[in-house]
Amino acid sequence: MNYDRYYACDVLNGEGLRVTLFVTGCRHACPGCHNRELWNRHVGQPFTPEVRETILDLCESHDGLSLSGGDPLHPANRDAIADLCRRFKQRYPDKDIWLWTGYLYEQVQHLPLLRDVDVLIDGPYQQDQPNTLPWRGSDNQRLLQLFDAKHALCA
Ligand code: SF4
Repeated sequence: MNYDRYYACDVLNGEGLRVTLFVTGCRHACPGCHNRELWNRHVGQPFTPEVRETILDLCESHDGLSLSGGDPLHPANRDAIADLCRRFKQRYPDKDIWLWTGYLYEQVQHLPLLRDVDVLIDGPYQQDQPNTLPWRGSDNQRLLQLFDAKHALCA
């Protein structure tokens, strides 16, 4: 997996004070996308163990980790994202992970890594849709509390 950048102290991508990682690679090609330069998964820098540990260390003093791009659920990114999420939850079981993806939840709900994701903002960006809801790029996107969904599924 490659990444473009991370924000060490972010209040714009999720609730509270967060560390936000922008990975590269996206297949959705949404018209009007503001991050076209991140579609190619070979651009950016390798997401090395050193970068991963730096991000995890930063999370110590934050409310959570946010994952965006590009698409963190691009097939080529899933193993590294799963590993990052697993390590985050091992260290910070009471902190949350927010993840933005162009896939619909129904297309990715089988992925084991979603067990470690607390909030999923799903679906492609649609430039003809209004943008009135917090944390979305367009209002067709859903903000799904997966923690609640897991409890619902277990109930
Ligand atoms: S999913 Fe996001 S990054 Fe990918 S094309 Fe759509 S808006 Fe751009």
